[in-house]
Amino acid sequence: MLQITDHIYGIMTKMHFVNYYVIDNDGVLTVIDIGLSSGDVKTLERELESKGWSLEQVQHILITHAHPDHIGGLAALQARSNAHTYIHRRDAAVVRGGEKSPTEKPENLGFFGRMMLRIIANATMEPARVDTELNGGEVLVDILPGLEVIHLPGHSYGQCGFWLPDEKLLIGGDVMMNFPWGISKPLRFVSPDWNAVHESIRKVADLDVQILCLGHGAIVRGNVSDKIAHLL
Ligand SMILES: [Zn+2]
Ligand SMILES: [Zn+2]
Repeated sequence: MLQITDHIYGIMTKMHFVNYYVIDNDGVLTVIDIGLSSGDVKTLERELESKGWSLEQVQHILITHAHPDHIGGLAALQARSNAHTYIHRRDAAVVRGGEKSPTEKPENLGFFGRMMLRIIANATMEPARVDTELNGGEVLVDILPGLEVIHLPGHSYGQCGFWLPDEKLLIGGDVMMNFPWGISKPLRFVSPDWNAVHESIRKVADLDVQILCLGHGAIVRGNVSDKIAHLL
């Protein structure tokens, strides 16, 4: 487990293909996103044990957005920890299993994007519980003082970031992706509102982020506004 700041840890799995994060508030643990499958819960358990922690200490689960690579292990984690689960209200129905995750319209995509849409069309996810539906703007003091929910829609309608203003640290989900060749917009074929994607990237640029923790790729440190200016 990678220690990022005093309270924030990252679990960067499978050559950085998918990351999730842990907040430690004096032994009260919060997990942010939980990978592709129940296998990620085993990874999480092993990583927690390396710090002397256990899954039973996980009291909160924050989900950035309801894509299968971020909620695939959610049902399994809930079965082990009974943690209180939060997600934006616009993504809640996907977690509960009543809806498929919205995508970009095929007519807005090229050949590759349309092919990818066909590949993911039949993906299924195990339904899981949502305890609190977020709107954006909440400050989650029970999890960590100052931790603010920021709605950053576009990649999904309910995509959120979790912002610590004192540390200038944003856990941003898939608002952007840090590919080996650089920071990029998220993949378009799974992003139902491409205009909102741009507005959300602008919102991040206006935040004065110094540590950007994304769902995919290495952590971005330094002046994030400068590093993402080419995307705007
Ligand atoms: Zn995503
Ligand atoms: Zn993702």
